[in-house]
Amino acid sequence: MDDTTSRSVVERARAVIPGGAQTGLRAQAYDLGEVAFSESSGPTLETVDGEEFTDYHLAFGPIVLGHGHPAVDDAAKATIDDGVLYGAATTALEVEVAERVVDLLPSAEMVNFCNSGTEATYHAIRLARAYTGNDRVLKFEGCYHGWHDYVDISVYPPRERVGETHPESDGMLPEAVDHTEVLPFNDAEAVVEAFAEFDDIGAVICEPIPHSVDCLVPDEGFLETLRETTAENDVPLIFDEVITGFRHSARGMQHELGVTPDLTALAKAMGNGYPVAAVCGREDLMAQAGGDNTSGVVISGTYSGHPVGLAAASETLRVLSAEPVIEEITALGERYREGLDGLFSEHGIEGRVVGYGSVFSPQFGVTGEPQRYEDVLGLDEERFVAFARGMRERGHFFTPNPYKRQHLSWAHGEAELETYLAAADAVLGSLP
Ligand code: PLP
Repeated sequence: MDDTTSRSVVERARAVIPGGAQTGLRAQAYDLGEVAFSESSGPTLETVDGEEFTDYHLAFGPIVLGHGHPAVDDAAKATIDDGVLYGAATTALEVEVAERVVDLLPSAEMVNFCNSGTEATYHAIRLARAYTGNDRVLKFEGCYHGWHDYVDISVYPPRERVGETHPESDGMLPEAVDHTEVLPFNDAEAVVEAFAEFDDIGAVICEPIPHSVDCLVPDEGFLETLRETTAENDVPLIFDEVITGFRHSARGMQHELGVTPDLTALAKAMGNGYPVAAVCGREDLMAQAGGDNTSGVVISGTYSGHPVGLAAASETLRVLSAEPVIEEITALGERYREGLDGLFSEHGIEGRVVGYGSVFSPQFGVTGEPQRYEDVLGLDEERFVAFARGMRERGHFFTPNPYKRQHLSWAHGEAELETYLAAADAVLGSLP
């Protein structure tokens, strides 16, 4: 059996793994040629063929310190040496990371760990519904909160379904879709109107910066209205900080924006690539989960609070708090955006470069500042794929999905910026 080429590994994958990768979005990487990865280090990915790429995908965002950060990996390895899983009572490590999250995030008074962002938003919605006794979930078009039935709705609706509740997957429970109200992001009036129309809103969930469609920046006053309206109606406001938390700020985007939600979902950058996530928030909401698994809110999970993920989180949060990581990756992000912007002008390309902090995304065929999902619908996907192809050929890896932003880590620096912009110059200059 030939294991030594990306092509042979992907061929075998297609026979035993649906689509040949763990998710459809991961399989999109094959649109530009088969790749199977075997190593990563700092800003670099390596395939089984020994082909090297600078990584701008960073696994959809978790890698904030760079691949294989020594202190994080050492902490994880040391934990494995001590013991892998206890699954009863608690551990000092669990308490230490919870205390750290409480110290860092304005909304965090209590914390519950889990292993993915999807679990975190699921728990948050259950806690909010239990508190209010109401079923309806209010979410925003273009926001992704994971794959469960309560939220995998109207993330990427086709143009003709904009403004409706659009399930993203076959097999979803119609009742879950019926109990969801979808609003345009940045539309404060729509939020106030929804609360006037419905008296059964149980939870409001929002990405403070919707990065699932590259990047929508909240208008001044939008999140504040969301905060005020939910507070007036005593409905918990959930911030999904799965991407923004620990990437744009060690204290959460909520700290930078000065808007404190009632509950927060955390994952991704929290563990620099290790599976760890959390729901945290107001003590009275979180305490509903303090029962005996037969009453109150049940939050459960064999691997929740897994020592290896928590060891990685402990070290990642320590580094993020002690070192100027966020300042540096944010400043570097600004230079990538400026550099790309300049190249768009130089080559007379119609488009814009969007992003925030260490996140950026070139968008072709659309101009102006995007404010809501509809503003990204018209982008030129073919041109983006051509750009991604040219960049891949020159050693820069990101997925050829125009809505999936590129990320930077602390391991990226001047050298990566220079080679990226030189490659982008060549690719943009050769686009048909
Ligand atoms: N929330 C946001 C904003 C996300 O981007 C994601 C994943 O991309 C999730 C939730 C779900 O997280 P996970 O993939 O860890 O389940």
